[in-house]
Amino acid sequence: MNRNYFIITLHRVYDPELKASHNTSPRLEISKKFLEEIISLQDSHSVEFVTIDQLLEVISNETNGTYGCLTFDDGFADNYQLAFPILKKSGIPFTIYLSTGYPDHVICHSSEIIKEELTNKGHLWIAGEKISCKELGLEAAISKALKLIDAQSTNPAQQKRLLQEHIDNFESYYYLGLSWAQLREMLDSGLLTVGLHTHTHPNLTELTQDEIANEITYCNKRIEEELGLNATHLAYPFGRYNPKVINVIRSMPIQTAVTTEERLITYDRYDYLVMPRVRAVDGQLEEITKHIQ
Ligand SMILES: [Zn+2]
Repeated sequence: MNRNYFIITLHRVYDPELKASHNTSPRLEISKKFLEEIISLQDSHSVEFVTIDQLLEVISNETNGTYGCLTFDDGFADNYQLAFPILKKSGIPFTIYLSTGYPDHVICHSSEIIKEELTNKGHLWIAGEKISCKELGLEAAISKALKLIDAQSTNPAQQKRLLQEHIDNFESYYYLGLSWAQLREMLDSGLLTVGLHTHTHPNLTELTQDEIANEITYCNKRIEEELGLNATHLAYPFGRYNPKVINVIRSMPIQTAVTTEERLITYDRYDYLVMPRVRAVDGQLEEITKHIQ
């Protein structure tokens, strides 16, 4: 009998009818239609979509069958606006690995804000340099802006403040991130698992052990305060981890931690704190089905 266990990584969802289709990051953004295609794997590949807690049970019981988990990283508002209605209609459980600094407005979705600002206004000033879309094209302009910001600071909260200084009406971009109210509404459906993704989305490998612990503890605290639950599943920001990070995680009440390593989970050889995932690439269902035996 086959045992296929996998976790799908998602970030953003877009509606081609609302947005001129210039999806500059098909690995970070999938269409509503493609989300429906993923769900249709229920019929075409007998995939049973389960919660991350149920997946743990399935793995430890070595249950036969094909089981998948849908996970969204970061906490984008389109998860609520576009994905949630589809998931609710089909009764599909899902996880959102939330960086609590987004709904708390301590950090921001930098690259997405830069993309919107450049699309809306055609240019952006960062650290005395004008970045023009006309000159560079959208994609190169985005990456130049990100590079200039990185050169100023790699601290996500400082990067947010820097962008805030350079963009008028910066607060108008807060709509890009999930609000606590949207999270509560999704929780009420019984389909959502909220997972940890740290408070400020740093590269954990660059932090001290105390800083790593604080990032996760504070994320959990904010989730508990706002949503009244205790999160025990984690996704490493940028998929980055090392032995130091794992050591810290091991000392905490965390059940699973997911990476961005592209593999199926094999029931006889796995580590719950370094779980692989399968990344969804917009329009390319075979990138998922190739993993299903
Ligand atoms: Zn992330």
